[in-house]
Amino acid sequence: MQSATDSETESATIDIKEFHWLMDMLQSIDVGLLVLDRQYNVQLWNSFMANHSGISSSGIIGKNIFQAFSDVPETWFKRKVESVFLLNNRAFTTWEQRPYLFNFKNYRPITGSAEFMYQNITYIPLASVDGKINHLGIAIYDVTDIAINKSELEEVNHKLEVLSRTDRLTNLNNRGHWEECLVQEFLRVQRTKRPSSLIMFDIDHFKKVNDSYGHQAGDEVIRAAAAEVVKKVRVTDVPGRYGGEEFGIILIDTPAEGALYLAERLRKAIEAMSVFHDGVEIRYTISLGIAEIKDDMSGHKQWLQCADQALYEAKRAGRNQSVIYK
Ligand code: GH3
Ligand code: MG
Ligand code: MG
Repeated sequence: MQSATDSETESATIDIKEFHWLMDMLQSIDVGLLVLDRQYNVQLWNSFMANHSGISSSGIIGKNIFQAFSDVPETWFKRKVESVFLLNNRAFTTWEQRPYLFNFKNYRPITGSAEFMYQNITYIPLASVDGKINHLGIAIYDVTDIAINKSELEEVNHKLEVLSRTDRLTNLNNRGHWEECLVQEFLRVQRTKRPSSLIMFDIDHFKKVNDSYGHQAGDEVIRAAAAEVVKKVRVTDVPGRYGGEEFGIILIDTPAEGALYLAERLRKAIEAMSVFHDGVEIRYTISLGIAEIKDDMSGHKQWLQCADQALYEAKRAGRNQSVIYK
């Protein structure tokens, strides 16, 4: 009998010990833990919650969570939580749905760029001895590192994507991307049947610029031409660098006459402009070919060929002029 009592005492001691250890671990774990009753009054508040909120456990136990934290979104939170009570099911929310439930500061040194702590949250139904779900456990995970890494990665990917369609010298669309836009516009016009035009232009006697002033000066002239294009086009127009000193502009919903108007404005502006390289003034002109899209065109390549042919005509007729494809 004596030994039985001893072992009972021993097992009770272990239970109490285990309980204390568990409590210690729950208190010091790097996860926020709290328990709410059905009236949304706080019943448990671990050290993580106390440290990050600045409100101690004794200061909040028994208090209503919405009164203690006025910025906790009551409607959203209740909608989420009521289903946990009703269905006796766990629920989750991630930082991507809502960055945080509690507005805690971010203290992590590596991710110092974040102003607040991003949180993933688990809602756990807690059964009472009678089996009824009268309490809700909430676990709050600090996922600031993950969130920051992800948004930095997205930012880098976006920059890479922009780089992959940009011409380094002029910052215009590069040939690959510009031609994709041309294909899209050709397909779009087949549906909408509205006129769109294409301008192709090329710098006149550009070899002479390179030969007389050097390749760097040539680059400067190309950049200046591109900058002038950007100044003159509308936001809906799509300019691109097609080749060395050859450019294309897609003019959406614009007939040939409208394209000619822009072409001439651009031609005159460039004719009147000086580029300075190493203190030397460089003057130059451009020739432009214009083609409006036509029903009988087989594809974007033919559209491009028509504009190219008009450009060739402009060169042949003496350069520094705009020609519409007929
Ligand atoms: P045209 O009036 O008939 O157009 O005469 P052009 O001398 O301009 O002849 P073309 O258009 O064939 O000349 C293109 C020249 O542009 C050839 C090439 O050396 C030069 N070029 C091509 N790409 C670049 C570049 O990125 N930078 C510089 N500086 N020159 C380039
Ligand atoms: Mg040229
Ligand atoms: Mg050329």
